[in-house]
Amino acid sequence: LFADVEVAPAIEVFALTAKYNEDTFAEKVNLGVGAYRTDDGKPWVLPVVRNAESQMAADLTLNHEYLPVAGLPAYREAAIRLLLGDGHPVVVENKVEGIQTLGGTGALRLAAEFLKQMLKKDVVYVSNPTWGNHRGIFKAAGYSQIKEYRYWDAANRSLDLKGMLEDLKNSPDNSVVILHTCAHNPTGTDPTEDQWKQIIDVCQERKMFLLMDCAYQGFASGDLDKDAFAVRYIASRGIEFFVAQSFSKNFGLYNERTGNLSIITNSPDVKLRVRTQCELIVRKMWSNPSNHGARVVATVLNNPALYDEWKQQVLIMANRIKLMRQLLYEKLRSLGTPGTWEHVIKQIGMFSFTGLSLRQVENMMNKHHIYLLKEGRINMCALTTKNVEYVANAIHDSVIS
Ligand code: PMP
Repeated sequence: LFADVEVAPAIEVFALTAKYNEDTFAEKVNLGVGAYRTDDGKPWVLPVVRNAESQMAADLTLNHEYLPVAGLPAYREAAIRLLLGDGHPVVVENKVEGIQTLGGTGALRLAAEFLKQMLKKDVVYVSNPTWGNHRGIFKAAGYSQIKEYRYWDAANRSLDLKGMLEDLKNSPDNSVVILHTCAHNPTGTDPTEDQWKQIIDVCQERKMFLLMDCAYQGFASGDLDKDAFAVRYIASRGIEFFVAQSFSKNFGLYNERTGNLSIITNSPDVKLRVRTQCELIVRKMWSNPSNHGARVVATVLNNPALYDEWKQQVLIMANRIKLMRQLLYEKLRSLGTPGTWEHVIKQIGMFSFTGLSLRQVENMMNKHHIYLLKEGRINMCALTTKNVEYVANAIHDSVIS
């Protein structure tokens, strides 16, 4: 029966972790998977999350009944408030809906399905490069064309705004475009506020449907409001759009699959129509979402003291990443590693797009036991004050050998 089923290609980031786990070398480093680590190289359960979890465990009124298809209302409302800010006109005017999803991935997949089924979308634009799963999600949802817009200027290690605008201008009518709200994965390079205005002008001119991917709110600048600039700006222009939100990184709730699809519309009536259609799609995909992560996020965001505590802890993560950027940069400079390394401190968010070639990446893995994506992306959070020198020496060796 299964004779013709071939072994599927490995999922790079998970295969890397498996290889890393098998490696017995004492100084091995996993710079692959995008997850925060403390300076001891350990996963971090945010203290505010532990706090919310203790409150939840003590609350005997909570139970394991099914959540509504669209998820926990207190969570969806809080997620929208975090995204758009308190008192944003679209929220006050009751034009925004949220559907709780299985992580940011679930939000993207739900968006892809809705846009295909209801608006007959068939073409999606993703940045080159982008998070690997964007293409897969839209392919799985049956899109006939997954197209790229230029984003990364490899020579100057910066945003290729001209190329990006050109490609968006040449898009077929009514395409969907995925834009990273902040802390672009993998390049760590975001448009400036002025560049956002130019990008949205072109998208509007071409009647593109904006799907904002917001997986790193707080990780770019350490300031949750600042990181939501693009979303708030688009909403202020009266555009109807979607935001795929993930709390995997900023709450450290990776395996709780805590996401939200925020739906910004022009009227409460449209909001209702879109939400109910999304519910039918959800019913067929995961029926209804899980409770734990959403309840943690709702508990924190809806309590001013916990919310303040959380903001401090997001800042701790953002600042540790900045420090690692600085240390890596300084070590490479002091080693005299050929090439410019300013991009390591200029880039923002969880990742650095190092510019290492495939040969250099292989040298890092095979000779130095340092695991990173083939495209040269490294997770800055996996660097620590203890391993940064080892990693810098390995980069130096890989560049000169
Ligand atoms: N979008 C981007 C850009 C991401 O980097 C990620 C996570 N790596 C996601 C979406 C998906 O997030 P989640 O793990 O919550 O599904």
